[in-house]
Amino acid sequence: MADRIFMSPPDVTAAEEEAVIRAFRGGWIAPLGPEVDAFEKELAEFCGRDHAVALSSGTAALHLALIQLGAGPGDVVVTSTMTFAATANAIVYTGAEPVFVDCDDTGSMDPDLLATALAELAEQGRTVRALVPVDLLGKVVDHEATGRIAAEHGIPVLSDAAESVGATRNGRPAPAYGVAAAVSFNGNKIMTTSGGGALLTDDADMAARTRYLATQARQPVVHYEHVDVGYNYRLSNLLAALGRAQLERLPQMIDRRHAIRRAYIDLADDLGGVTVFGLPDASEDGSTRDNAWLTSILIDEQKSGYTSGDLQAHLAGLDIEARPLWKPMHLQPVFEDRTAFVNGTSERLFRTGLSLPSGSAHDEATIERVCEAIRTFAETPR
Ligand SMILES: *Cc1c(COP(=O)(O)O)cnc(C)c1O
Repeated sequence: MADRIFMSPPDVTAAEEEAVIRAFRGGWIAPLGPEVDAFEKELAEFCGRDHAVALSSGTAALHLALIQLGAGPGDVVVTSTMTFAATANAIVYTGAEPVFVDCDDTGSMDPDLLATALAELAEQGRTVRALVPVDLLGKVVDHEATGRIAAEHGIPVLSDAAESVGATRNGRPAPAYGVAAAVSFNGNKIMTTSGGGALLTDDADMAARTRYLATQARQPVVHYEHVDVGYNYRLSNLLAALGRAQLERLPQMIDRRHAIRRAYIDLADDLGGVTVFGLPDASEDGSTRDNAWLTSILIDEQKSGYTSGDLQAHLAGLDIEARPLWKPMHLQPVFEDRTAFVNGTSERLFRTGLSLPSGSAHDEATIERVCEAIRTFAETPR
């Protein structure tokens, strides 16, 4: 039996191993040290931001940013329903109420529906502390449109760029949008520190306060004085070394993911009722480009004769991991009684979409095995 093929396994090499050993031997086995400092500097530069604060997760970055934007009990934070639960969870941690907005066909928050939602919330006299748009599967949100609508209501934008590190829009890196952006280096993301994240911002005070809150809000005195509730959210120096090695290889890892996407586009062209989600994934001049974190296909059951669930089960039987797109937050039992502005698009994407093995560590033979499995299944008479 061939090895199991995961959707997005970590892509690590001897360079990452050497980096971790270097950090280990350097003696800073702690959530601070020279690797953290260097990682923050390199990451800020890569993301086109003045400051990066390395943290233990992307969720931590969202949480600390929301606290600083003043989110708390009685307030609202508006986000996309088409996201991973971490976005909504971070809002709930602050005591604020998440309000979900559906997406358009790109998977990003629908600007018209957002305008409706903000108008309605304003009419109800609700205080909206932040808008948290989400870059789905590595495609950058239309920040010009959503940003304009948020600005009309005086609402700051915190960008959830957990899935879009390395993507650009109009020449701007994804995490360069908003007053701050949260990125993730979880094990399945486009680059990894095994677990980790960062907050990116141009606001020096926000960066300093994030660092302070993430290290238990300790005052700069010897006897552990505290005037705020703090968190233990800093990234380990060992993991920052891993992140530095990954960041260096990120452009080539993204190119590899795009090559995998092209293989799936060719495959979909041959099959009836199957399209690749989120195209085009780059502009002709290259100023806008997804990072191709995950490639998903949409299956039209009427034309194909099978559902995404049928194909997923078939692939699982061949030890190939494939999953639906995120199940929308307004359908999650934990959030189902929260306010949501929906148009049916996220539910349709959830029902018809399937994300395929997309990891940059996958070689051509592996992707060919996936394509062959899909082709054989699609061509089975039914
Ligand atoms: C992965 C992810 C997060 C959370 O990042 P962690 O590092 O796993 O905490 C937040 N938002 C989105 C959209 C994500 O995909």
